[in-house]
Amino acid sequence: MLIKDIFATKKPVISFEIFPPKKDSPIETIYNTIEGLKDLKPDFISVTYGAGGSTTNRTVEIASLIKHKYGLEALAHLTCIAATKQEIEGILNSLKDNGIENILALRGDLPQDPDFKFPDPLHYQYAKDLILHIQSLGSFSVGAACYPEGHLECDDIEKDLSYLKQKVDTGVDFLITQLFFDNEIFYEFLDHMARARINVPVTAGIMPVLNRKQIERITSLCKASLTKKFIRIMERYEHNPEALKEAGIAYATEQIIDLLSWGVDGIHIYTMNRPEVTRKIVENMSTIRSVIST
Ligand code: FAD
Repeated sequence: MLIKDIFATKKPVISFEIFPPKKDSPIETIYNTIEGLKDLKPDFISVTYGAGGSTTNRTVEIASLIKHKYGLEALAHLTCIAATKQEIEGILNSLKDNGIENILALRGDLPQDPDFKFPDPLHYQYAKDLILHIQSLGSFSVGAACYPEGHLECDDIEKDLSYLKQKVDTGVDFLITQLFFDNEIFYEFLDHMARARINVPVTAGIMPVLNRKQIERITSLCKASLTKKFIRIMERYEHNPEALKEAGIAYATEQIIDLLSWGVDGIHIYTMNRPEVTRKIVENMSTIRSVIST
């Protein structure tokens, strides 16, 4: 099913993100993750794409497993910065051959390689260029990324918003946000989007934080601001892994309850391939969801 049709008929849309196992781990290790998530009945599961060839084929393979072996809808991430236009064509054919109907079209992070030349005529420069290509094929529903606190490379939130508008206007059906910990920032971002006449459904990316290392990694990779409440929790429980994990789950649950009360289009949980954590969150919110959908 096309994800744009799910958003057209359901609110909130609940989805999960998983990532492929590293290339030296057997692909079967992902079975446990999907099996642990399957009975939570997400509207779709997305599979990340490791730029640079590390796990690229695995994204197609796992998306295909989700759809055909487990009977769930799949969203395959695809980045364009590290693959030539010709390679992209090959991946799109492979997605089509595997019956995958939904793609999260991304640029990808700029390679660290000092010899990397950008822009380069063999590659797409921005996600919007990849989106144009995908939409020209006519058979996929296309999602894209958005950043409530701005993208790392862009210091001007207004510019970021105008690029987002350009991107959406090339044919984006829905947006998934970068993770955030402060819902108020997300609500302000939605107001800015409405003013910029960006009118596609936006699903909120929520990551339960389970350990200190994870937080350090997140804050080095994206602009997510930490709330005072969040920092207090981290400081209080940082030396007690079990307590920190429970507090991280509680924080994510509270964020989601607030988002659901607000009337968000969707919730996208970054599962980190930890189905037991996602299960706890979904169980925590199941009564609220049933009230919302009645
Ligand atoms: P774009 O929308 O192309 O934007 C990139 C930058 O260029 C921004 O700073 C933007 O403001 C600027 N820009 C856009 N258009 C223009 C223009 N016309 N002129 C000048 N500047 C412009 N990465 C992976 O490698 N694999 C994944 O699976 C993956 N999944 C993700 C899922 C989500 C939900 C999110 C939020 C991110 C994900 N990423 C993933 C990370 C993403 O690839 C990076 O954040 C990347 O740096 C930007 O990708 P984009 O598609 O948002 O790029």
